[in-house]
Amino acid sequence: MADFPAQARAVVIGGGIVGCSTAYHLAKLGWTDTLLVERHKLTSGSTHHAAGLVGQLRTSANITQLLGHSVALYRSLEAETGLASGWKMNGGLRLACSEERWIELKRQATSARSFGLDMHLLSPREARQLWPLMDVSDLVGAAFLPTDGQVNPSDITQSLAKGARQRGVKLFENTTVLGIELDQGRVTAVLTSRGRVACEVVVNCAGQWARQIGQLAGVNVPLVSVQHQYLITDTIPGVTPGLPTLRDPDRRTYFKEDVGGLVMGGYEPNPHPWAVAGFPDNFNFQLLPADWDHFQPILDQAMTRVPALSQAGVKELINGPESFTSDGNFIIGPAPEVSGFYVGAGFNAFGIASGGGAGQVLAQWVVDGEAPCDLWPVDIRRFGPPHGDINWVRARTLELYGKHYAIAWPGEEHAESRSWRRSPLYERLQAHGAVFGEKMGWERPNWFATAGESARDEYSYTRPNWFAAVAREHEAARERVAVFDQTSFAKFRLAGNDAEQALSWICANDVARPVGCLTYTQMLNRRGGIECDVTVARVAADDFYIVTGTGFVTHDFDWIRRQIPDGLDARLTDVTSHYAVLALMGPEARRVLERLTRDDVSNAAFPFGQARSLHVAGTPVLALRITYVGELGWELHLPVEQAATVYEALLHAGAEFGIANAGYRAIESLRLEKGYRAWGADIGPDYTPMEAGLSWAVKLKSRIPFLGRESLEQQAREPLKKRLCGFSTNDPAVMLFGRETIYRDGERVGWLASGGFGHTLKTNIGYGYVRQQGGMSREYLLAGHYELDVATERIPCRLHLSPLYDPKMERVRS
Ligand SMILES: Cc1cc2nc3c(=O)[nH]c(=O)nc-3n(C[C@H](O)[C@H](O)[C@H](O)COP(=O)(O)OP(=O)(O)OC[C@H]3O[C@@H](n4cnc5c(N)ncnc54)[C@H](O)[C@@H]3O)c2cc1C
Repeated sequence: MADFPAQARAVVIGGGIVGCSTAYHLAKLGWTDTLLVERHKLTSGSTHHAAGLVGQLRTSANITQLLGHSVALYRSLEAETGLASGWKMNGGLRLACSEERWIELKRQATSARSFGLDMHLLSPREARQLWPLMDVSDLVGAAFLPTDGQVNPSDITQSLAKGARQRGVKLFENTTVLGIELDQGRVTAVLTSRGRVACEVVVNCAGQWARQIGQLAGVNVPLVSVQHQYLITDTIPGVTPGLPTLRDPDRRTYFKEDVGGLVMGGYEPNPHPWAVAGFPDNFNFQLLPADWDHFQPILDQAMTRVPALSQAGVKELINGPESFTSDGNFIIGPAPEVSGFYVGAGFNAFGIASGGGAGQVLAQWVVDGEAPCDLWPVDIRRFGPPHGDINWVRARTLELYGKHYAIAWPGEEHAESRSWRRSPLYERLQAHGAVFGEKMGWERPNWFATAGESARDEYSYTRPNWFAAVAREHEAARERVAVFDQTSFAKFRLAGNDAEQALSWICANDVARPVGCLTYTQMLNRRGGIECDVTVARVAADDFYIVTGTGFVTHDFDWIRRQIPDGLDARLTDVTSHYAVLALMGPEARRVLERLTRDDVSNAAFPFGQARSLHVAGTPVLALRITYVGELGWELHLPVEQAATVYEALLHAGAEFGIANAGYRAIESLRLEKGYRAWGADIGPDYTPMEAGLSWAVKLKSRIPFLGRESLEQQAREPLKKRLCGFSTNDPAVMLFGRETIYRDGERVGWLASGGFGHTLKTNIGYGYVRQQGGMSREYLLAGHYELDVATERIPCRLHLSPLYDPKMERVRS
């Protein structure tokens, strides 16, 4: 074996499928000076006991595409390395045994079409033709994705390792990582059982041990280990090599063909965690004791689907631990705590399916220092304060594991790990009937039940039980006045002599305006894609107050911090916990506010787009004249300990105007009507402000340099290839949730990024990008005849290029 190197450009930790794929792709991108270290042998972690199903469809287009890259790679790798991967494209079948599951399946088929995958809906008889061994007496229908398949996990990993080696990567087995050296927040070296390796970048692909590895560098990788079991049978007559993989979510089970027999696994509702008190030493190529009592209910279910199972001999019940996360998605990207430290872990029992694609985007991220596309659903920066609490993470993760095959309801909230972070108004809101949802550990009012209404969510693919309540709250904001507790907003301060210079570089809009000005702005990456969508208030010559969404606290803080040019005096601090936020919105908002302050809040003295320090109910408040609901109103940012004082005063003063409490679901309905964009859905790193219809918020006409400017200038010279548009359909039977396919003159041109019901306009509203490779004009967009595919049915709809509600901003500026 070659000498252990003292230096490498990148060190990849972990020789499972994800580490090998990342090393392979790093080398492919020219980072051949990469070292992979594995403490035992390649594939000795979770990879060795995976079942090997490869499904592709996810709820995000980019993650679906990432899985598609895995498939493309697994098909072609043998030709490159000479090592077979065991790839078999036998397709994937998914069953529905209830009407609600059937709706879910039809919506999945629509999502698949949106993302360019051809998923067929089948009758029970057609499904049985593909899988003759199954009983279909309870089936409503099935869906078949022909390009899904299966692979041999160890073979594909060895093949990737060989491909990496061929391109110059050094792989060292029996090499344990013991420490990570840092200097001023940057990775400088990895300490291993064979010695120290100086490096620029570390990529932590240590599977369920990735949390431990992260701790060596002060990086939080929020994942936990859970036991996962599947059975391997002897040969079963009728099981043929071409049998598709089969998922039977109503029975919590999955199947795949395995040398003439079946692999059958499942997700128990009461999962068993593993290694809660720490990992045993030398857990390599090992399994946990088979837990038949735990598995029996799954087996019973499976035997009713495939009666031949009851006659089959059992080779083995595999019980392998695997890392799972609190939202069911894996974790990749740069750790916000340490520069040069990347993570690729937490694969929730679809690491074999994801390994190829995840390694590719992770390698690209490392090489470019920027994600190649929008990877928000799997970005490590989607985590924040609650994910530092391992009990929080474990409880939520186990809940999600138990719900793995449950119907994923629109708007669904989870029961575990709740009440971790509460606004000072929590009990008061509860007394007013608040039904809470959770975001980043915060309890936030989603809607308010009145007497006689059940104060709990009842989910549905048609109108859920909160529909009428949201309509009431929506109406209050449109016609009278409503108060929203938005304390969970993430809030930062950027202060220092060079704060203006730094922020001018980071923001696409002009923030170098006088004190008291408020600027809605995006922050762009080099491609001009929208990384952050924030409001900036200049509170002093050298002090800016930045407000962003609750869920973006880690991501946006990290983005801003990293983009501050070296040497500037601009210090970023997170002040989220310092301020409660009450948004007072509606045509009567001014009259309510006037009763509580001596300050002048007239339109002349306090116009839209300004920030002022006021005293409201005796409390010092930073008032932002801004709105996300499209009405006259103010966001009042105030000391946490005075939130109750101001809230009570607002309710008291607002009583004569019919003030109402309102929640986040009303905000969603209101903002859809007004056409305000939501980051993570309508806008994100894949879309520029021009494509998103936000060119008005970009300072291209100025000569101020800013990050992403060159890309936007380039884009401005050509016709747009995609454009965010609004869509509406009045059909009361339709519910839009996002991912519905957009057709223009019968041709698939995109999908909805978000959707919902506008209670003032009494219409379904969605937003999505229309795509046209050759570029498009406004006339082209308006000339088309549009339809939406909703649960595989084509619904006529109208396209809108202006907000459906108050396009002239008359209500907002009044
Ligand atoms: C029973 C079961 C069935 C599954 N079925 C499927 C399936 O059908 N389809 C699918 O897509 N996925 C499936 N999975 C999931 C899949 O196995 C994992 O998601 C995938 O293998 C994760 O790969 P990895 O590279 O992240 O982790 P691992 O394979 O665990 O690799 C991590 C490596 O890091 C090494 N390491 C740890 N600490 C150190 C250290 N200090 N120094 C050096 N090296 C270290 C470990 O030894 C290990 O080899 C299943 C998992 C289980 C348990």
